[in-house]
Amino acid sequence: MGAAQLAYALGIPAFLSDAKALSEKDKERLNQWGIDYEEHGHNVDRLKAASAIVKSPGIPHTAAIIKALKADGAVVLGEVDWAAHYTTARLIGITGSNGKTTTATLCHHIMAAEMDAVLAGNVGQSLAGTLADRMRYGQPDPEVVVLELSSFQLDDVFELKLDQGILTNITPDHLDRYDYDLNKYAASKMQLATYTSGQFIYCDDDPITNTALEQWLQEHSNPPKLLAYGTDTPAGPHRITTKENNTITIQLNNEAMTIEELALQGKHNMYNSMAAGLSSRLMNIRKETVRKQLSTFDSLEHRLESILNISGVEYINDSKATNVNATYYALECQSKPVVWIVGGVDKGNDYAELLQLVQGKVKGIVALGLDNEKIKEAFGEVPAFAEAETMKDAVRAASKMADKGDVVLLSPCCASFDLFENYEDRGRQFKNAVRML
Ligand code: ADP
Repeated sequence: MGAAQLAYALGIPAFLSDAKALSEKDKERLNQWGIDYEEHGHNVDRLKAASAIVKSPGIPHTAAIIKALKADGAVVLGEVDWAAHYTTARLIGITGSNGKTTTATLCHHIMAAEMDAVLAGNVGQSLAGTLADRMRYGQPDPEVVVLELSSFQLDDVFELKLDQGILTNITPDHLDRYDYDLNKYAASKMQLATYTSGQFIYCDDDPITNTALEQWLQEHSNPPKLLAYGTDTPAGPHRITTKENNTITIQLNNEAMTIEELALQGKHNMYNSMAAGLSSRLMNIRKETVRKQLSTFDSLEHRLESILNISGVEYINDSKATNVNATYYALECQSKPVVWIVGGVDKGNDYAELLQLVQGKVKGIVALGLDNEKIKEAFGEVPAFAEAETMKDAVRAASKMADKGDVVLLSPCCASFDLFENYEDRGRQFKNAVRML
């Protein structure tokens, strides 16, 4: 829809084709824009006749329609690739297994304090829709676009030119789409470097990123400027941002800046703040602004979101944690005993990585899912263990296990589709159930 809206704003004749049903609202908008459409299937001949085809990121490259169009020599572009032609804004692309939304939102929060910056892509609105809206309201081209890019979106790119790329980390996720091959998934993420012409920012504490980058460098002779952030020793060759004793230091152009106060807590958020701080300094945002904005950022919904304190028990919603790595960091930053609500659709999780943290911090587990066998097998030794099939029951069971001074943490480690529409629905149901206690 965003691409259709931009085509309308630019006066480019377009036709929209959807294999599924279109909503009444979308049809109304397409009619308003004078854009012809079809639903419940594709008219292949009509699509073949188009001078370019803009593909929605949700359609896999293996879909029959895409294969048929490509076999016929059609130009198939990703939405981001196509829309980027219509802006002269500086583009910052952000990808990674975890932390994309937080890092992108932090970058935007800092940059928007001094520049005309917009946030688009895999967060909020599509790039095409964002640009079209600005044209509609007579706003100028933005100065900078902070673009969150999923693997799907990156796999659609052919010619995007990013001024900056930020790779937050690479951990096993979505492997089903990459033949269960971590190297293929990592190579997909490394495409970000291929499309970056200015600076490429990465976390050199992450071993999978380091290996993938080495491999990528062997295959690419003209890389962007590589800049890293991290805390582990020894530092990698590109590290210019690090942290010691709660102070972040960014060393740039023979000048060091320090940041002492971060609004977001936890080691993972420290990484996200380092990436956003470095990116902003490279965009010439003033040090004072970087400090101020990093210390005044509200936590995002469903990401370690503190909900309520009931009788001395804190309830935290981390529903967006859909893989082991995200939950690792959620547990790692807890300083009080934890009652942990975990479970859902397991994407091939290896729970061994969590065992030590769970033994040290978790006093009770509520497994929330249709199939809890793997969780039971991995953590059945925890003193209190219960199972639930609704969020209400899970929260009730967790509240019984928790004592004053404890935390009840929803950090599922799994996708939500067995019992919920999506992670947002799961998080909202958690918050409602907590408020009903
Ligand atoms: P994404 O957009 O990549 O899914 P989010 O910022 O929405 O990332 O965060 C998703 C989950 O991952 C949340 O549970 C969050 O607490 C956790 N998380 C955020 N940043 C990081 C990071 N740098 N490393 C690991 N986990 C993270």
